[in-house]
Amino acid sequence: MSTVHLTFDNGPDPEVTPHVLDVLDRYRAHATFFLVGKNLTDEAGVATAELIRNRGHRIGNHSFTHGTPLGDDPGEAAVTRELAQTQALLDRVWTGPRWFRPFGGGGEIGPHLLSEESVAWLQAHEVTCVLWNSVPGDWKDPEGWVERALEDAERLDEMVVVLHDVLPGAMARLDRFLAQLVEAGHGFTDDFPLSCLPIVAGKPQPGLDAYVRSSSKSRRKAGS
Ligand SMILES: [Zn+2]
Repeated sequence: MSTVHLTFDNGPDPEVTPHVLDVLDRYRAHATFFLVGKNLTDEAGVATAELIRNRGHRIGNHSFTHGTPLGDDPGEAAVTRELAQTQALLDRVWTGPRWFRPFGGGGEIGPHLLSEESVAWLQAHEVTCVLWNSVPGDWKDPEGWVERALEDAERLDEMVVVLHDVLPGAMARLDRFLAQLVEAGHGFTDDFPLSCLPIVAGKPQPGLDAYVRSSSKSRRKAGS
């Protein structure tokens, strides 16, 4: 039996996100949507973000460009472009606690996710950093992801699953996934397991170092 926290990354998408919201309503499930800042630079994107909020879901920061992962892009320029720029757009539609999900790497978890500069920014702005423990690969396999996500729910007590509300084909299967989850006895939760939160409201948690590329280490390596 798993408690499942649903997360949707890379949106908002004016076509796909409203469909996802309708499906979530059917199951009374709350989710967190990690938005990409460049999708919030037009009216349709902002209106979709407001819809997410108005329907009772959380909104978080998922970078501005979704380009190079922050651990591979150290320095203040990336922090300003990816984190601060997106947060300024999010702050217009979201006044609750600040959430951030690192991006890049096809769901791989490792030190490529964060730079030391980005960690400092997350601390200073009291952001909670949200990782994941289930990546069923909806972008690679618009049908088969459902089966893999159900297997993860069997394996995990607390599941944080990464889906993408920008994929019409994969999200057409969202209803079937949620129906099968409920049928198998799993439930939804609004909480994240602490094991998926390396930074909580700006406070570093044990194990954070595993997700941060240390610039002093890479300097040493470069000099050796
Ligand atoms: Zn992403």
